[in-house]
Amino acid sequence: MNGGDVLLQMEHVTKVYGRGERRFTAVKDINMTIRDGEFVALLGPSGCGKSTLLRMITGLIPTSEGSVYYRGQPVKGINPYATMVFQTFALYPWLSVLDNVALALEARGDMSAGRYIQAEKLVDLVGLDGFENAYPRELSGGMRQKVGFARALAVEPELLCLDEPFSALDVLSAEALRGELMELWTGKQLPTKAILMVSHNIEEAISMADRVIVMGKEPGHIVTEFTISLPHPRTRKDPAFEALIDRIYGAIAGRTEAEVKEVGSAPGAPGLTRVLPRSSVNALAGLLEHINPFKTPYDIYKLEGELAVEMADLVQTIEMAEMLGFATVSSGDIQITPLGQAFAEASILTRKELFAQRARRLPIIQWMIQMLNAAPNQELPWKVFYTALLPEFPDEMSERQLDIAINWGRYAELIDYDDRDELLTLDLSGGKAAVSAN
Ligand code: ADP
Ligand code: MG
Repeated sequence: MNGGDVLLQMEHVTKVYGRGERRFTAVKDINMTIRDGEFVALLGPSGCGKSTLLRMITGLIPTSEGSVYYRGQPVKGINPYATMVFQTFALYPWLSVLDNVALALEARGDMSAGRYIQAEKLVDLVGLDGFENAYPRELSGGMRQKVGFARALAVEPELLCLDEPFSALDVLSAEALRGELMELWTGKQLPTKAILMVSHNIEEAISMADRVIVMGKEPGHIVTEFTISLPHPRTRKDPAFEALIDRIYGAIAGRTEAEVKEVGSAPGAPGLTRVLPRSSVNALAGLLEHINPFKTPYDIYKLEGELAVEMADLVQTIEMAEMLGFATVSSGDIQITPLGQAFAEASILTRKELFAQRARRLPIIQWMIQMLNAAPNQELPWKVFYTALLPEFPDEMSERQLDIAINWGRYAELIDYDDRDELLTLDLSGGKAAVSAN
């Protein structure tokens, strides 16, 4: 599969949104190649810049640094070789299915009578024959999305870009549409040379793609990639499929490993300040209670369904558990530690103590406590912390990091925060538990 001509190439692509104080780096130093014949999936948590990459590839937005090449030519403005199918396709409600598709042909300048014959072919191709004259409101979500595909295919794009095309559909429609798309693709019935699909669903990516590129966030970057050579149609029950799920999960959760090495610093200290995962004590408690009965490593992949949470959120909670020493993670499995078991089984008060004991070890919390200790009346404006964190993180993240630290600190009764005067204080009441521990 990898022998095809290079269609798309991204070289050191960075995208920064906003300007001045509001600058935000969405993706950083992305290198990627897509060849003729490939179906590539971009997999990653929400916010890691997947849609941003598609927008630069289709030419909807420019890069900030680096270049996108299509067949060796730099992409400037709209890329005529690529089209995009969005999560929910905006169909014109006053036009029939056929007219909606024909309109895409008109948009590229085809005003011939033949455009209706072509539109009809596309409607058939996606399995909507008989619905040519139906209006969007008469169609199910899955059928509407098929019209979306037909419209995207109308311009015969060499590169078809799909941005989470199944995620707005119910489970069964999504499964059916995936199957139909794969039939068309593997049967070489599409006028398309390559597909790039964005997904945040591991199973979806493995079941469809030849190659899965795993992305991480803050800022968005490529973590690693996997080649999937299983024959189609693929089934989840295949042990090789299961093994891939574990490996890819490992790569996603493994993102924590790099960050673990950054522990030991705080603002002002050398090295990077460790990023606190975006999760809550409630989510942490839920996770630990769930895995507590299992004393052996537990398949992380199963947790997504069992806890009914999104993978992106789950990864954050798992990272929180790992960071606090309540669990360990390796190759797609999570294992609760004795401390985690104690937490899962403890009363509310003991939980607070255990949490406080661990949270005090986190450099950023330590740093906040030290700052407050040194301040008159042990209080400081929120702004002081925010400003001190700015050199460490992009500003949006600096605020979020501080929010998380305050939430954790409050729960642990180490730090107090008054929203009205935006003042942080050392919690001298409940802090006892934490002071006696450690
Ligand atoms: P994904 O598709 O992986 O969920 P996006 O590419 O949509 O991620 O967004 C990546 C990051 O860039 C997010 O943090 C998002 O808030 C931010 N972002 C996206 N579009 C804009 C924009 N137009 N202006 C500022 N920030 C943006
Ligand atoms: Mg997106």
